[in-house]
Amino acid sequence: MQLEIIEQSWPIAGVFRISRGSRTETKVIQVKLTHGTAVGRGECVPYARYDETLASVRQQIEDIRPAVEAGLSREQLLQMLPAGAARNAVDCALWDLECKRSDQSIWQLLGVAPKALTTAYTLSLDAPEKMQQKALEHKLRPLFKLKLAGAGDLERVQAVREGAPNARIIIDANEGWTKTIYQQLVPELVKLGVEMIEQPLPQADDHLLAELEHPIALCADESCHDRKDLSKLQGRYEMINIKIDKTGGLTEALALKQAAVESGFGIMVGCMVGTSLAMAPAFVLAQDVKIVDLDGPLLLAKDQSEGFNYTVQSQMQPMTAKLWG
Ligand SMILES: [Mg+2]
Repeated sequence: MQLEIIEQSWPIAGVFRISRGSRTETKVIQVKLTHGTAVGRGECVPYARYDETLASVRQQIEDIRPAVEAGLSREQLLQMLPAGAARNAVDCALWDLECKRSDQSIWQLLGVAPKALTTAYTLSLDAPEKMQQKALEHKLRPLFKLKLAGAGDLERVQAVREGAPNARIIIDANEGWTKTIYQQLVPELVKLGVEMIEQPLPQADDHLLAELEHPIALCADESCHDRKDLSKLQGRYEMINIKIDKTGGLTEALALKQAAVESGFGIMVGCMVGTSLAMAPAFVLAQDVKIVDLDGPLLLAKDQSEGFNYTVQSQMQPMTAKLWG
């Protein structure tokens, strides 16, 4: 087995802006595993919020190169690397390679019948009128996810609601609120029909959520990486956002999903800003979940060949095996 680590930069269409900052490109690492004529690929997005850089993630993968090239299993990989981007790229490449070598699709391997999915469409943090304009440009999309930050958020949601009276709206504060902002905003957001709030408070303040009213479902993102986080989210969140870059691959993500459902959490499947190669394993995970948020490629100026074709109504058909799986 041969392991290749490929760094890539993909331009974002315009600017991607959240409470923590803005970006005009996304930097990813693609892992390619070659065994005979079979090639398996996986992509990850190193994420600064979780103390990851391209260099640190590359080093983590380099460190396990001998084991990977000797043919380690996905189960062994779980013991060798922690949850995070590096393990994700290797795990997804191992799944893809397993499909290619056995001449089976990921759906055949897992015994799942694939269905088309409708993804949320992200509106970057911006002035209220700019966010409304974006919503108008995308008026056929049924579900918007608004990136928020604290000050001015009510005006942002009001503006988008005015521009898209029939759309479903979810919001993501990316840890940008305080308890006071939460208490002021939430009753107003109920009136505006907001369906879900992702990560309102910093992860360190999660305990405060247990004392607050939850008329709108709260979804843990920065606070939920893998199965070991689940118990401390009880009573604080109603949903969790599973991303393969946080779980460290599809293997742990599938296990987290099952454990979370058994514990009564609603499931959202999200993504970092990555290409269709990173969306494909998440598309498998996102079958039958409440909220699908896999619009990474829609935010890019350019995507993989063989990438997902998103309709103007945000529908995604199952990927081809040429892309992944
Ligand atoms: Mg989020």
